[in-house]
Amino acid sequence: MDATPTIDIRHTLGEPRVLISRRSLLHNAGVIRRALSPGVRLCAMLKADAYGHGALIAADTLCNFCNDGSGKPPADTIAVASIDEAMALPDLRVPVLVFRPLENAFIGRQRLKIEEAIRHGWVLTVCSLSGVEDIARIALQVGRRANVQVMVDTGMVRSGVDVAALPGMLQHIEARPSIKLWGICTHFASAENPESAFTLEQSRRFHLATDPVGAAYGGRLTRHAANSGALFFHRTTHADMVRPGLALYGIDPSGRPTMDRPLKPVLKWLAPIVGIQEVSAGSTVGYGQTWCARRPTRVGLLPIGYADGYPRSFSNGAKVLLHGRAAAVIGRVSMDMTTVDLTDHPDAHVGEEVTLLDDNPLSPVSVYELARWSNTIPYEILSRIGARIKRVPTDPEDAPFEESEAETSDQDFT
Ligand SMILES: *Cc1c(COP(=O)(O)O)cnc(C)c1O
Repeated sequence: MDATPTIDIRHTLGEPRVLISRRSLLHNAGVIRRALSPGVRLCAMLKADAYGHGALIAADTLCNFCNDGSGKPPADTIAVASIDEAMALPDLRVPVLVFRPLENAFIGRQRLKIEEAIRHGWVLTVCSLSGVEDIARIALQVGRRANVQVMVDTGMVRSGVDVAALPGMLQHIEARPSIKLWGICTHFASAENPESAFTLEQSRRFHLATDPVGAAYGGRLTRHAANSGALFFHRTTHADMVRPGLALYGIDPSGRPTMDRPLKPVLKWLAPIVGIQEVSAGSTVGYGQTWCARRPTRVGLLPIGYADGYPRSFSNGAKVLLHGRAAAVIGRVSMDMTTVDLTDHPDAHVGEEVTLLDDNPLSPVSVYELARWSNTIPYEILSRIGARIKRVPTDPEDAPFEESEAETSDQDFT
């Protein structure tokens, strides 16, 4: 889907940039919605700058746009990892969940941040009695009730209070009027595997532990567990709300492109060619002289490197696309620069853009391929795309997106 260039798109020409298709984001939210029973809410996972897509753009799109004729934007709730990430969001009229367990409340700057979170009404995650204690005290001083959710450990063993300790924890919360229980959640260890019986076992433990509480609280309590994998592969886990990240961004939780779900990757990463050099056979390129020309070679220079999240493991291995055809990364990827072989692209010129990461799931430079080249998963490739790369929303073109002040001032010079 090619959008008409917006002003932003033109302004960022000549720089490395990430294009974000709002339309695809809304489309994926629609695909997710259709997998849910009526009444199940959708919490959009926007941690890690919306998996590298830009939390402002993603939050704005999912909370202010509608594409299904319902008149209602797709996100009922937003989730982030830290209070800092919540602070960086625009003002939203939906609940904001902060998933990092509240701990160390009186160390460093934590307390000020927690006060701020309570003032905003954000839902803080607790996994321990000491966390509950701390937040109750801070909420008393702030003079506002703190919203919390309890993370229960049903088998992931990463964060969360043990199922057996949940009733005690809930009593503790009940006894403190400065705290309001907003929800109870758990997290699955293997939900991306459709065959995983452990996911159903975790779900069973979750229900066993929380069904009585759910009954006591009625509709005032939100119980949630499902990430993208559970959402599609384990439909009995949806509870009151699902909280997908990856699928929203159009990446299949199976880690492979599939026809089973019409998800559309949202992000496309481009970089301009900023230099071309003709070198003779025998020349070596880059740090460590790891690549040697076997023929006269046109070496193209791209202004991105591992500091931008283009992995150093792509040295002498990855490809980029130019006019739909591959060009090989040659030599080492360095901190700010990468070199590519343009010998078979005699028309290539400085100023043209190459595609580092394509939004077509079947492209030779899809996020699935990039993840394979560096022996990782799409999550890591996406979330590491660096802060130096400008995120540019593309469509719909008339979108009322407001940039943060920092970004606007830097645009004044362009
Ligand atoms: C990141 C995260 C999710 C979303 O996971 P996806 O696999 O990206 O859908 C859901 N819940 C928690 C607690 C998370 O940390």
